[in-house]
Amino acid sequence: MRSHLLNDTTAEHYRRSVTEGIERVAAKLATTSRPFTGVTVDALSPRIDEIDLDRPLYDTAAVLDELEDVYLRDAVYFHHPRYLAHLNCPVVIPAVLGEAILSAVNSSLDTWDQSAGGTLIERKLVDWTTARIGLGENADGVFTSGGTQSNLQALLLAREEAKPGRPGREAADSFSKLRVFASEASHFSVKKSAKLLGLSQDAVVSIPVGADKRMRTVALAQELERCERDGLVPMAVVATAGTTDFGSIDPLPEIAELCERYGVWMHVDAAYGCGLLASVKYRDRIDGIERADSVTVDYHKSFFQPVSSSAVLVRDATTLRHATYHAEYLNPRRMVQERIPNQVDKSLQTTRRFDALKLWMTLRVMGADGIGQLFDEVCDLAVEGWNLLAADPRFDVVVEPTLSTLVFRWIPAAVTDPAEIDRANLYARKALFASGDAVVAGTKVDGRHYLKFTLLNPETTTADMAAVLDLIAGHAEQYLGESLDRAS
Ligand SMILES: *Cc1c(COP(=O)(O)O)cnc(C)c1O
Repeated sequence: MRSHLLNDTTAEHYRRSVTEGIERVAAKLATTSRPFTGVTVDALSPRIDEIDLDRPLYDTAAVLDELEDVYLRDAVYFHHPRYLAHLNCPVVIPAVLGEAILSAVNSSLDTWDQSAGGTLIERKLVDWTTARIGLGENADGVFTSGGTQSNLQALLLAREEAKPGRPGREAADSFSKLRVFASEASHFSVKKSAKLLGLSQDAVVSIPVGADKRMRTVALAQELERCERDGLVPMAVVATAGTTDFGSIDPLPEIAELCERYGVWMHVDAAYGCGLLASVKYRDRIDGIERADSVTVDYHKSFFQPVSSSAVLVRDATTLRHATYHAEYLNPRRMVQERIPNQVDKSLQTTRRFDALKLWMTLRVMGADGIGQLFDEVCDLAVEGWNLLAADPRFDVVVEPTLSTLVFRWIPAAVTDPAEIDRANLYARKALFASGDAVVAGTKVDGRHYLKFTLLNPETTTADMAAVLDLIAGHAEQYLGESLDRAS
């Protein structure tokens, strides 16, 4: 069994095994003709159930054969140009190479003595990102598992900074008085974080959005005013730079003004829109982000990185101390004096992957402009999609894209019952998924069911979008036909 340990004597086994795996995946990627096979849970479960984990196959090739059957054949493939559903990107090869290296070396980024250069590489990427944002000389941050964790950590810092005892914050004598302001289109991790942080149930004040799905700052100003009047304490405003549903970007400069006026922590959730930091053409769309106190970025959304790769960045490095705890066995206090960099001092995690290496490889091989160009391409593609949808009487499209998302709904001329239209759209999405021909997402707008393209693949063409719209219309019409049959 020792031959399976990766070390100086097993290099050949390592090389062969990994190469065999890579060959399978390469063959798979080359031959997938659809993003999904349409397999059902009921069809797939027995295949996995029947595998006895206490009876190993003792043979890599045999296990890879089995994996074909239980995973590779029926996986959902984000690299396919007709995968248009969620915020998942096709990944760039330098990052995948980084992934292979980081798991083989297996550095853990909690302490210097488990990572050495890995820590410095991560810190340099944090600095690179804060410089791109424009957070200033005292900025810092840390890589996280994803936007959810980044938002949680940012709000933890905001909560600690809003604590009682601080001038003007006397009213914050308990967490129950703290309020967080986020638009109604913000990510649900804001509410989840509030709960995890022990805030009251009504801590997150939902600010309405306009027709453009951006936070209405007039409403934000009123709520901040009301908050103070009621003797409550504004803890943070979460501005979303790229809403998950619409890609809309809240008016960052105006929000920054209000945060300054009320002395409130400004968090920018740029999990999606962070790709603009590398953009060659559209960087100005997130102007104002440089005024944030903290920023969430998900490289695994718009930097074409494999899951996971994310970071939380802060304007004032000292605020990260709110996540600092010392353990004698790991990161004793004296190491701070000795200037030994232990990233665990800044992180909610302890053992932590060297995800930063993927971004490092990407920037060193492709450059930031390379990534930015890919993201610009999908933003341009979304405009093409908007033009298609706006010109097509079969569809109603919600808002002109700022990033790469389109939300729309099939609307037949002959049907006026919105509930029936809801059902037809839901059916079309399900039927499309079951066919495997394409994958699209869905969401609700003003209580009605809509469909969604999230475009993150520069290989997707306008013709792909047109073809998928035809498929959707076909399924929806079939549903209506059958429902008329049912009625008659
Ligand atoms: C995706 C997303 C998140 C959550 O990020 P994960 O990486 O999925 O945890 C947070 N905010 C926004 C706006 C997002 O789009």
